[in-house]
Amino acid sequence: MADGDDAAAKNKAVKLQVAAARQEESGQGIARMPKSALAALGVTEGDVVEIVGKRSTAARVVLAYAEDEGLDVIRLDGLQRANAEVGSGDHVQVAKAESRPAQRVVFAPAQREMRLQGPGQALKRNFFQRPLVAGDLVATTGQTQVRDMPPQVARMFNAPAFALTQIRLTVVSTVPKGIVHIDENTEVELREEFEEARGSRGDVNYDDVGGMGDTIRQLREMVELPLRYPELFTRLGVDPPKGVLLHGPPGTGKTRLARAVANESEASFFTINGPEIMGSAYGESERRLREVFEEAEKASPSIVFIDEIDSIAPKRSGTPGEAEKRLVAQLLTLMDGLQARSNIVVIAATNRPDAIDEALRRPGRFDREIVVGVPDESGRREILGIHTRGMPLTGVDLDELARTTHGFVGADLGALAREAAMDAVRRIMPQLDLEAQTIPAEVLEGLTVTREDFLNALKR
Ligand code: ADP
Repeated sequence: MADGDDAAAKNKAVKLQVAAARQEESGQGIARMPKSALAALGVTEGDVVEIVGKRSTAARVVLAYAEDEGLDVIRLDGLQRANAEVGSGDHVQVAKAESRPAQRVVFAPAQREMRLQGPGQALKRNFFQRPLVAGDLVATTGQTQVRDMPPQVARMFNAPAFALTQIRLTVVSTVPKGIVHIDENTEVELREEFEEARGSRGDVNYDDVGGMGDTIRQLREMVELPLRYPELFTRLGVDPPKGVLLHGPPGTGKTRLARAVANESEASFFTINGPEIMGSAYGESERRLREVFEEAEKASPSIVFIDEIDSIAPKRSGTPGEAEKRLVAQLLTLMDGLQARSNIVVIAATNRPDAIDEALRRPGRFDREIVVGVPDESGRREILGIHTRGMPLTGVDLDELARTTHGFVGADLGALAREAAMDAVRRIMPQLDLEAQTIPAEVLEGLTVTREDFLNALKR
């Protein structure tokens, strides 16, 4: 700790504006910075810098892309932004830092559904020489956990997502403290229990939604900005939006997007599922709705996400039942009751925007709309990149796949990647001795997802 402070004091810090890293570079622990910043800090590529936002984290320096030269911009991926507790557009202080070899690093899964345990060897390889700070959220790259896969994970072969997907981990503790890196002598432990990740951003962030550049920009302006900087709006005397309607076909990523905005805004996230809440007993649905709004108010800043809002708020001019009428009335009351300063945004999703009650579209309610469309080729390419991020691929041409999957939405592309991975797993199954505790390294080396696997999955 003291050492870190000294280092920061000795070295000049520069102020840089955060921008998002390129999708394909996410999860690598690097920070791209312009030449001028490298010179000012006295660092060269490969050196370690401390990045201070609301929290401090570390990264290895890489030179900016040519198009960024001349801009005072630092490119960080979603995990790094979470670790520094900043969003794109915020400023961070960057200073040269010393990273010390770690004697010991303890990791824990950052996703609740992950149950991992086993030798830290794989993680050691994965994070070798990467600067780490206790409390950081990090992600594995595919190749690693496919080797040294612990047996209980291996047994989940019918859930290939576990074996072939990127795994997010929390750095629970390090010895010594401060910025450290793993070297040959570091003892690495992987804890079994889930450890809450920083600000819940372990879940999803903007890097995990593909083909939505414009949509993310719009949503950041309407939702993230007011949630993070409510004072801006108060100062200008304008009311930030309370309700945003996302509309688009199923499986295009509306839910994932809402969750990402919540995480990146460091807001609490509450979900209401339209059809589910409709199914509740008399009076129960309204009570549930009120409770969610109350909880959101307590935990604000918050985002309340209402999925399939058309099922609870169908046009009243049609023939809605009593239950719908009461629920719409309740929802309107709750929305109208939201104080301008309560710092809650309600995001609702529907694939039938024309089917919802007009009263909900009035000013002060869901008065903003964002269309989430079916992705085009470049969008599909991005989404495929996201869903194959953790997979060892052989001969797979994602550009080709993007070209040949016209009409596929994000959910279809995710399913396609899972299917292809499943085929790869099936292929090595005969070589496995299911009684054995571990999987031979050479078998795991052979576990790769091929172009054939994708083509076969496409045929199904
Ligand atoms: P919607 O809410 O529009 O029905 P979801 O957000 O529930 O869609 O998407 C379902 C799944 O499909 C996601 O969990 C994700 O795996 C995948 N998916 C959908 N759209 C995208 C996208 N744009 N980028 C990455 N994955 C996506």
